[in-house]
Amino acid sequence: MGERGTQGDDSMLTTQVLDVERIRAEFPMLSSRMNGHPLVYLDNAATTQKPRAVIDRLVHFYEKEYATVRRGVYTFSQDSTRECDLVREKCREFLNAAKSSEIIFTRGTTEAINLVVSAFGRKFLKKGDTVILSTIEHHSNLVPWQQLCEEKGLTLKVIPVDDRGELLLEEYKKLLSARASMVAVTHVSNALGTVNPIGEIVKLAHEAGAWVLIDGAQGAPHLEVDVRALDCDFYCFSGHKIYGPTGVGVLYAKEKHLEAMDPYHFGGDMIETVTFEKTTFTKPPHKFEAGTPPFAEIIALGPAIDTIETLGFESIAAHEQELLEYAARRLREVPGLRLIGEAKEKASVISFVMEGTHPHDIGTVLDQEGIAIRAGHHCAQPTMRRFGVAATARASFAFYNTKEEVDKLVSGLYKVVEIFR
Ligand code: PMP
Repeated sequence: MGERGTQGDDSMLTTQVLDVERIRAEFPMLSSRMNGHPLVYLDNAATTQKPRAVIDRLVHFYEKEYATVRRGVYTFSQDSTRECDLVREKCREFLNAAKSSEIIFTRGTTEAINLVVSAFGRKFLKKGDTVILSTIEHHSNLVPWQQLCEEKGLTLKVIPVDDRGELLLEEYKKLLSARASMVAVTHVSNALGTVNPIGEIVKLAHEAGAWVLIDGAQGAPHLEVDVRALDCDFYCFSGHKIYGPTGVGVLYAKEKHLEAMDPYHFGGDMIETVTFEKTTFTKPPHKFEAGTPPFAEIIALGPAIDTIETLGFESIAAHEQELLEYAARRLREVPGLRLIGEAKEKASVISFVMEGTHPHDIGTVLDQEGIAIRAGHHCAQPTMRRFGVAATARASFAFYNTKEEVDKLVSGLYKVVEIFR
């Protein structure tokens, strides 16, 4: 799908310059029209479009291979089971986890965080312990912890951010010097695009004896993750944001934690023996995967990861950074437009407000031009409050977006200026 800068073969040894037209041809939805215009899809932080390889895998599986996993003695079921195991191994490689049993399939990031809160937090955090979050968390990495704090008498502390949207690490260090037990921060902010220095965050937390969960919902689509180098305790992401199907996500957790944690859900496929007197549970990962998993979606997550790996994170990041910088430069020219979140390290998200215009109105005008952006609080109300706005408009990029699409966005924004002036 890409052209190599030097040798022109498909090897991934050097940074490829992405052949975006060829890539786009692999994503059927990108040739759709919306309100009479070619679709300009700039809502990738919410969810990404799917390559034909993912769609074909789902269709082929449902049409020709469909059978349940784990329980079957017959060939089709054994094949499904093997396919799921292969994707678990692919996820292990994707995150560079030590063992595939450290990969738990969930419904997405939200469920992964709830799993850690319930199965780890509820067991190991004690009254008086501290949970440290950042100001710029998605509600998925805030509300579950807040509920646990209320339930168990934990103290919730928040790392502040500066006006650019960068975490204040000196303040973080001070919070850690109190009694810190769990740090839960996002890799990349969905509302601002800030890339947090998670390596340093993990290191400092561990020095203070705290565990760390990284919400990778916006990290995994854009940045190479190496959980072993990072040494985080937990990392999670959603399949639908990395070009995969809906309804499936991944939680990585260190083996020692999974061994120590109690199950999250109870039911079929997670037991060793059951009597009316007592149940014993099987080992991770299945101990945390009660019930029939979304096995078709798990299997189709495989080609999504292949797509990313074929392009390579270096090439993806180079293309997306170029788009982001171009968009920031062009958007700043639009009269009355103010960017929200200007961290030095950003990934693929550009949030903004326009004088005298509600973000929903911006979204509606752009919709009429075939441009899909997001408007609202982005499930990050504390972030909005920090920047003194109720909502922002947000364009978010994927490797298949182009500068021409940014130009269309900018033209649409000039229309907004004309209408609401
Ligand atoms: N965290 C972040 C940073 C996100 O952007 C999102 C999705 N917008 C989530 C968590 C939740 O992901 P999901 O809805 O796929 O569970």
